[in-house]
Amino acid sequence: MVIHVNHVVVVGAGLAGVRSVEALRARGFGGKITLIGQERHRPYDRPPLSKAVLMGETDSSFVGSDLAALETDFRPGVTATALRAGAVETTEGELGYDGLVIASGADPIRLPGDGPQHVLRTLDDALELRALLVPGARVAIIGAGWIGAEVATAARRKGCAVTVIEAGPAPLTQAVGAELGARTLPWYEGIDLRLDTMVSSVDEGGVTLVGGGTVAADVVVTGIGVRPAVEWLADADLDLHNGVVTDEHLRTSLPNVVAVGDCAAWWSRRYGRRLRVEHWDTALGAPEVAAATLLGEEAVYDPVPYFWSEQFGHMVQYAGHHPAGERVIYRGDATGKWSALWLAADDTLAAVMAVDRPRDLVQGRRIIEAGHRLDEERLVDPDVPLRDCVV
Ligand code: FAD
Repeated sequence: MVIHVNHVVVVGAGLAGVRSVEALRARGFGGKITLIGQERHRPYDRPPLSKAVLMGETDSSFVGSDLAALETDFRPGVTATALRAGAVETTEGELGYDGLVIASGADPIRLPGDGPQHVLRTLDDALELRALLVPGARVAIIGAGWIGAEVATAARRKGCAVTVIEAGPAPLTQAVGAELGARTLPWYEGIDLRLDTMVSSVDEGGVTLVGGGTVAADVVVTGIGVRPAVEWLADADLDLHNGVVTDEHLRTSLPNVVAVGDCAAWWSRRYGRRLRVEHWDTALGAPEVAAATLLGEEAVYDPVPYFWSEQFGHMVQYAGHHPAGERVIYRGDATGKWSALWLAADDTLAAVMAVDRPRDLVQGRRIIEAGHRLDEERLVDPDVPLRDCVV
């Protein structure tokens, strides 16, 4: 089917937005492209915000795309406020489109309370927080997930007195389960880690805990997750359920409208369920498929999800979708380099999480893609390469 698209509007100038522009041009789209972004910055990568930017090793992480060379009308500081078929309403008037990419990402969840509460989503957030991470500052981090762990890493390195407050029984409980998360406990040395503890509000001078008690702090950072940034779509005639619902081509329920990145819940052929993955690799890869779909080409988005985190001196990498597994096998001792492998009932690999074992990640990702089965006995020996465990 050939679709005639003359003007594509991209809402959201994060990685998924800018990659959509690049992908459209790479496919020969010669029409008009308008890219609008709520932030006043040009597009940048977020992963360095909680790593090199927070540590003061760099001040920014702008992506290298030349939007002028891509003949894109880039409008920073413009917010989409509503969508109706054929037009996006914005803070600077209405924008008609005949192709639309929804790439509005996600917003951090905040806790109740009137006290100063930091989140880490934008470059401005990172620069503001960085200035407060000074030796001796009492820093309370709510949530021992990916962001919480990375902020704790930076804060500890900067000589702050760090408290991490986690609702679950171990770090990373929500992400990968308590058993696996517990293997990261030794990494929290020198940090006051409060597990099974919930914060009810952020107040002047610190946080109040559920059931009473307070944690005094000069700086409070909330890292308890994000929500897809889809409020502006609330009145649109669009399927929303945990983000913008799409099919495997990243098509939404409205004609000529696709969705990508953190805000998109796409149908995964591989896993037979809808996935919304809030990670960099998805924002990088999905726009290729979305652009093809918008231009009437046949393309399917069906990746093995991948992400990484750098925390407490460790490189943590994950590929797959562990809910598809039924048991976890460990390779290597928790005190050193190790990997966790989730095996499905038929001994295929559902997911791998590698700690300082990048080869396990690379080989595991390929094994997942190929759907190979693994020999559990060989698997437990960390000296046997993962690819040699294929049966
Ligand atoms: P976003 O990057 O959120 O971009 C969306 C943009 O749209 C934003 O600029 C927003 O302001 C704008 N917007 C929202 N609503 C509107 C509107 N109505 N109108 C106009 N503009 C709008 N992933 C990893 O895999 N590894 C990591 O180590 C890692 N580290 C991270 C560290 C931090 C601090 C953060 C915040 C994220 C990290 N991630 C990491 C996740 C990764 O950065 C995200 O998955 C990725 O940024 C998603 O890109 P996106 O373009 O979909 O959304």
